[in-house]
Amino acid sequence: DSEEEGPDRQLKLVIMGDGASGKTSLCVRYAQEQFKKQYGGVHVALEIWDIGGQTIGSSMLSNYIFGAHGVVLVYDITNYSSFENLEDWYNAVKKVCVGGRLPHIALLGNKNDLEHMRTVKQDKHQKFAQEHGMTSYFVSAKTGDSVNLCFQRVAADILGIK
Ligand code: GDP
Repeated sequence: DSEEEGPDRQLKLVIMGDGASGKTSLCVRYAQEQFKKQYGGVHVALEIWDIGGQTIGSSMLSNYIFGAHGVVLVYDITNYSSFENLEDWYNAVKKVCVGGRLPHIALLGNKNDLEHMRTVKQDKHQKFAQEHGMTSYFVSAKTGDSVNLCFQRVAADILGIK
């Protein structure tokens, strides 16, 4: 079984965003459902770095971002400031990567199960993603909705797999 031979590729993904947006829950949800996935015949291990309680100003942040193939920016669709602050998170990534290539960046509107409490309009989300060349998703760590799909897509996009 090729699973035992280890992955063909290992990708580093950093998950960032305000506290309580659901970063840890998303990591847990994804990890529970699968550790390794096959992408078009390629075994890929996603090494997901959760920044935990770090804030935008943290000096540790650059260590996390360094060498990342992808960055996942998470906000809570019911918390407008978590969306507004993504501009700062994005700038923090740009600052670390200055002079080099930006990693692939995905925008995740989390807590999509709380649709009735949404304060960030979907078109605001889409506009932000478009303006910054990000792929974008609505997910729910609670129900698991689109979580696997999203991480698989991000890995496939990084690897240039359709
Ligand atoms: P972090 O600080 O960004 O890592 O956020 P956590 O993963 O600790 O989540 C913060 C709170 O939001 C916790 O109470 C979670 O149970 C809750 N939460 C996380 N994801 C979701 C979600 O998709 N839907 C709902 N309803 N609650 C969520």
